[in-house]
Amino acid sequence: MKNLKPVVLITGASSGIGEAIANKLMAEGYKVYGTSRRGATSGQHRFPMLELDVTDDASVATAVEKLLAREGRIDVLVNNAGFGIAPAVAEESSIEQAKALFDTNFLGVVRMTHAVVPQMRRQGSGRIINMSSILGVVPMPYVALYVASKHAVEGYSESLDHELRTQGIRVSAIEPAYTKTKFEANNIEPDTKRGEYESLRKHLAQVVGEAMKNADEPSVVADVVLTAIRAEKPK
Ligand code: NDP
Repeated sequence: MKNLKPVVLITGASSGIGEAIANKLMAEGYKVYGTSRRGATSGQHRFPMLELDVTDDASVATAVEKLLAREGRIDVLVNNAGFGIAPAVAEESSIEQAKALFDTNFLGVVRMTHAVVPQMRRQGSGRIINMSSILGVVPMPYVALYVASKHAVEGYSESLDHELRTQGIRVSAIEPAYTKTKFEANNIEPDTKRGEYESLRKHLAQVVGEAMKNADEPSVVADVVLTAIRAEKPK
């Protein structure tokens, strides 16, 4: 029998916000596929997990082909995979780190979009939800590269929405505030740590620690994603 549930692909679904979105959408009757760089070995999940690295063109193509072979369509793409750099003064992060951050947080969204949009065009329908951040709309010192990567996601999403809406495809960006996940733990450290900034670093860690006490649960973000998927946006 033909699968009637809307098919969803969520990148970075092995933990945190991505996993919460996957669980929420499954509970709401969607046919969910998650992705992780470690594939099915990334833990116990109730949804199928495809191996996918958003920084690797071939890996993206293989995962999308596998999903289309199984389901024949993709109704919703959630571009959630991402990471940050621990707070640092600008020149402590290297150009290599800047490239790595953009390769996942921004170009990862672009690669996934290029791989999925042709199928959505054929269907004449689709939803793309891009995980930005409150820092995608509000600048903040000491995390400038992360802020820049999420601002790129915002501009791309808004532009794509205008481009694709005539084809029945809508694109949204979501802006979570601090959320209780492994995000902080998965932050990469700045490339060099200059001694003169040590007290500033301690202060920033304290500020983030305080903010995390009031952080949202990932399920809060998952609720927002569900609302965005269901929303009838004006054309
Ligand atoms: P987690 O560290 O818990 O999850 C990040 C996910 O991204 C993991 O599932 C990881 O999967 C995946 N990932 C990382 N790099 C890649 C890659 N190259 N290819 C594929 N998957 C990758 O953090 P969160 O759940 O908090 O983060 C999810 C998103 O939410 C990110 O885009 C983040 O920027 C954004 N965000 C988070 C906030 C927070 O306070 N937590 C606030 C605002 C936005 P795996 O390691 O299995 O491959």
